[in-house]
Amino acid sequence: MSACLLGVRCNHEGGANTSEAVVALGARFRLVPVCPETAGGLPTPRSRAELGVADGRVRTASGADVTSSYARGAAHAVRLAGSLGAAAAVLKARSPSCGCHEIYDGTFTRTRVPGEGVTASALRAAGVQVLSEDDIASGDLPPSE
Ligand code: SF4
Repeated sequence: MSACLLGVRCNHEGGANTSEAVVALGARFRLVPVCPETAGGLPTPRSRAELGVADGRVRTASGADVTSSYARGAAHAVRLAGSLGAAAAVLKARSPSCGCHEIYDGTFTRTRVPGEGVTASALRAAGVQVLSEDDIASGDLPPSE
């Protein structure tokens, strides 16, 4: 689970993105939080970043390339999912790490494009089903344990 959806204050502004629909999954599933960006070594708060659809690099608005931190965080999430035998991940929508249906396009103009963040992509490649907070709010459920 994206940790920020469970109330952990780990987003780039130092806040949480608590989703009551996601928290409620705890009645039926074992929820394990992970924040790939902090696991990758980035501080909280931190500069907002976007994944450039043109070159696949993650950069801050000032142009700093933070792709390696995002890749480290994604690898951590994949290792964690593997060690837990996780069937699914529920992830924060539109994050350059956790977004799993659409992301911002890297131009910092709030332009959304179809795509997925670095961690969502890595989890999907590792065979983990990825769902967004919006999927859960719409009534989709992870596979039963
Ligand atoms: Fe939330 Fe994922 Fe961003 Fe961490 S990396 S703050 S879990 S959206």
